[in-house]
Amino acid sequence: MLKNDQLEAWDRDNFFHPSTHLAEFARGDAPQRVITGGEGCYIQDREGNRLLDAFAGLYCVNVGYGRSEITEAIAEQARELAYYHAYVGHGTEASITLAKMILDRAPDHMSKVYFGLSGSDANETNIKLIWYYNNILGRPEKKKIISRWRGYHGSGLMTGSLTGLELFHKKFDLPLSQVIHTEAPYYFRRDDLSMSEDAFTEHCAHELEALIAREGADTIAAMIGEPVLGTGGIVPPPAGYWDAIQAVLEKHDILLIADEVVTGFGRLGTMFGSEHYGLRPDLITIAKGLTSAYAPLSGSIVSDKMWAVLEQGTDENGPIGHGWTYSAHPIGAAAGVANLRLIDELGLVKNAAVVGEYFRDAMADALGDHAHVGDIRGEGMLCAVEFVKDRDNREFFEAGDKVGYRIAAALVAEGVIGRAMPQGDILGFAPPMCLTRDEADIIVAATKKAVTAVF
Ligand code: PLP
Repeated sequence: MLKNDQLEAWDRDNFFHPSTHLAEFARGDAPQRVITGGEGCYIQDREGNRLLDAFAGLYCVNVGYGRSEITEAIAEQARELAYYHAYVGHGTEASITLAKMILDRAPDHMSKVYFGLSGSDANETNIKLIWYYNNILGRPEKKKIISRWRGYHGSGLMTGSLTGLELFHKKFDLPLSQVIHTEAPYYFRRDDLSMSEDAFTEHCAHELEALIAREGADTIAAMIGEPVLGTGGIVPPPAGYWDAIQAVLEKHDILLIADEVVTGFGRLGTMFGSEHYGLRPDLITIAKGLTSAYAPLSGSIVSDKMWAVLEQGTDENGPIGHGWTYSAHPIGAAAGVANLRLIDELGLVKNAAVVGEYFRDAMADALGDHAHVGDIRGEGMLCAVEFVKDRDNREFFEAGDKVGYRIAAALVAEGVIGRAMPQGDILGFAPPMCLTRDEADIIVAATKKAVTAVF
């Protein structure tokens, strides 16, 4: 095995890390951690530290680490057939079985699954399918896509544009002109404090109406949204939000993409977030929880209504001109089949609901009264703690204060990984869905210590 200092030098000299301060990293001023193993909710690094991963990687290792049911399925698939493509009607037993398993779990009006590799490419696929759909229907002007500020939909050209976080636009010449943003359903940060939750929901629907009126409904194809805002700060919507938004979209014949990359396959305590909030999406984006990240795989689930038009399109124009070499990769598909079986066998969707609620309540008991804690919120196995400078006067921290990062660092020192969300003042938790009550208690106790250490 290489010595640590040798590996760290190679890391600094050769590896371009995503979402990293490149200059600090190259100077050796940023954390370096080499992960060597994982078991259940814990990971281990090269120094032998065992850390409770309360963000499940990037909210994706939903069944926990080291599941032999999945690693064996991957190994068996690799031995039998590591790769064949899915073009022009080809498939494998794993990919065909997985498509059936996904549709069995998805809302009834969904029809087919297109497989990709990442949440970003699945959302790119979705936008292309929507543009194709409107071209086939003879509405070439109906192309703009509405997204929300604070939404996260990926890092590609189109998906980075849909993402409503400045960090992902700055200096990249994004967003592209086909993308328009509307208000985030972020009740805690509403401007008018006298607004009730219901009034705020109405306000969000009204803002959407106003945007559609300004742009013209005949220029707008779809809206994309995460059932619960994830990377934007783990923000569940205010009561009635999705009903109000869907009423506006349906009135203007605007399609809905439910981006369920985080919420798909149980994280909210229901199989899909669409089920949780009564969404009727035309497309659903899935990734992360589809394989619990044991292998890269994503999907776009297409509704009956869109599928009929896509079929018509190929009758008129020939085969659909959209494909990835690795669509429905057999190893990813085998991981997906084993993962979805495991979620059922272990009852992890229910566990996400029950232990998730216990975890949030325990966090609220421990930190709810803290002078610098403004909000504790979440849904299912998602929790966020938002820090404020002055709770009574609603003074917020500046991004430069890096409060979330400082607390996340103090938390690691306590043996727990949380995630400083990109806004800087929010600490996010999305533990594996197999979290136990005892593990939830460990996270809460460590968070309390970390917060005390920083403030
Ligand atoms: N959509 C949502 C809601 C996400 O949270 C993410 C990633 O975090 C993506 C899309 C992009 O997925 P990927 O990083 O696999 O491209």
